[in-house]
Amino acid sequence: MVPNEIPSWATKAPYAPPANDFDIKLQGSCHCGHVKYNLSRDKPLASKFCHCNDCKIIHGAPFQWATVFHKEDLSFPNLDTESLKFYNSSFHEEGEGKVQLPHKVACKHCGTWLFDEGRNMILLFPTTVQFKSTAARRKFDVQMHLFYGNRECDIPDGTPKWSGLDEKSDLMDERQR
Ligand SMILES: [Zn+2]
Ligand SMILES: [Zn+2]
Repeated sequence: MVPNEIPSWATKAPYAPPANDFDIKLQGSCHCGHVKYNLSRDKPLASKFCHCNDCKIIHGAPFQWATVFHKEDLSFPNLDTESLKFYNSSFHEEGEGKVQLPHKVACKHCGTWLFDEGRNMILLFPTTVQFKSTAARRKFDVQMHLFYGNRECDIPDGTPKWSGLDEKSDLMDERQR
């Protein structure tokens, strides 16, 4: 890619400049601060913990926390396209030139995963959101667990526990082994 050339993906949401009525409700950032983003919603469409192996390995964590947003709910105040890294976990392709949805998006400098990008939706990792109050954080409370049979530990929080994907697998008891 020619330096400073705008790649085609950067002309679409969430990378394109936001709509004029984009109202900033929340802000987030990767660990090093190179990539900052804004959210026009203060509450995600859904909030889930995923215990699948891909999430555990890629995130280096016992489970992954993902929240669903429309692509248009997210924008970057000063996007430097060279700062983003993409990874397609299905095809094992990597690099800024190969953009194939769905893929994961990270800061190239510090490696913080920011969100999974699908065709219309984004699974944002809200550990990167800067919440200003407990009330703001509570709007992101988890509503369900996915791949709970694969969990590292029991999480008896009273929310539904799916053995695989939600609505496409069986519900489990929180402490069932
Ligand atoms: Zn970073
Ligand atoms: Zn997962």
